[in-house]
Amino acid sequence: MSAPSVLERIQALDAYAPGLSIAEIRRRHGLEKVIKLASNENPLGASPLAQEAIRRNAGLAFRYPQGGNPRLTAALAGLHGVAQERVAVGNGSDEIIDLLIRMLAADGEHNIVCFEPCFSIYPIQARVAGVGLRRLPLRADFSQDLDALAALADDATRVVFVTTPDNPSGYCPPREDVARLARRLAETAPKALLVVDEAYMDFAEDEAARTLLHAGELPDNVAVLRTFSKSFGLAGMRIGYGILPPAIADGFWRARLPFSLNVLAEEAALAALEDSAFRAATLETVRTGRRTLAEGLRRLGCEVWPSEANFLMFRLPEGHDAKACFEGLLRRGIIIRPLRSYGLPEHMRVSVGTPEENAAFLTALEEELAAGARP
Ligand SMILES: *Cc1c(COP(=O)(O)O)cnc(C)c1O
Repeated sequence: MSAPSVLERIQALDAYAPGLSIAEIRRRHGLEKVIKLASNENPLGASPLAQEAIRRNAGLAFRYPQGGNPRLTAALAGLHGVAQERVAVGNGSDEIIDLLIRMLAADGEHNIVCFEPCFSIYPIQARVAGVGLRRLPLRADFSQDLDALAALADDATRVVFVTTPDNPSGYCPPREDVARLARRLAETAPKALLVVDEAYMDFAEDEAARTLLHAGELPDNVAVLRTFSKSFGLAGMRIGYGILPPAIADGFWRARLPFSLNVLAEEAALAALEDSAFRAATLETVRTGRRTLAEGLRRLGCEVWPSEANFLMFRLPEGHDAKACFEGLLRRGIIIRPLRSYGLPEHMRVSVGTPEENAAFLTALEEELAAGARP
């Protein structure tokens, strides 16, 4: 018997494990109100100006987008003070990550390098592409040994991924460390592109001191990725972007599906870039909420890791079971993120919400801990 079948490496894949949805938990537990703090979405929702742009442009839905999204790439080039030729936009930064791997690394021949654990899209898309995967464990405190990461790369390495601030830990290395990684790679792995995923960088207490985009010229072997999914509040619209070396940006536009960024997403992104009031409120809400949440978790006896992102990684006090606690929180209408799929069965991640959501989460967690949540 023979029948069409997908490649074995695809059959063997563990698909990306997304955060549970509000509708799912409402139905499963018969709840009216559910709070989702599982996917690092914007606590204030979508930018009002972006919502207005989506409504205003709904009638354009019959049109194909303009090839190459020139209005959006021009706006982003202006925002970061880089040449427009370097700006790539895609259907979420996920699309850019996937394409970079497939554009640069050949099936069975080349490898990519990343940390373990890391944002799971990097290893998943590397496996889809059939390229080798080299992974370096994070240090025990979840900081990143970037010198050791550089040492993993060689002539066959085509992409090296780092996430700053990191997901799921929230750790953010000093900019100079990332710049040194780029210099070392240029010597020891000259064909490797260093992809610095800055999806959460704007939440850092001092973004200017951390991001590679404020350091003057980007090194020739570096790409920086950003997204509209977090601080711009447009996760559902799927818009990510990257500042790439010019030759790689050129390849990107040849390889990318021509209309992957849809008409309404582009309009929403352009409007969100104008909505400085919404962004200021978002950053204030997240930075304040992060402190409140961290204090609250520590007060409950949890171990909390320092975070420069819009989420916190934490571990329950001794004797409490993460899975039971996660399920208990679900029954109370609160969705957070267990980190089992990241290989961290005892750790959990909670996104920073509104003050009310943060308070509801801390109350529910306190009740769960009091009720036991033991193995
Ligand atoms: C959320 C996130 C992104 C953004 O992905 P999109 O596809 O733009 O929604 C990228 N990298 C990391 C590490 C993330 O956590």
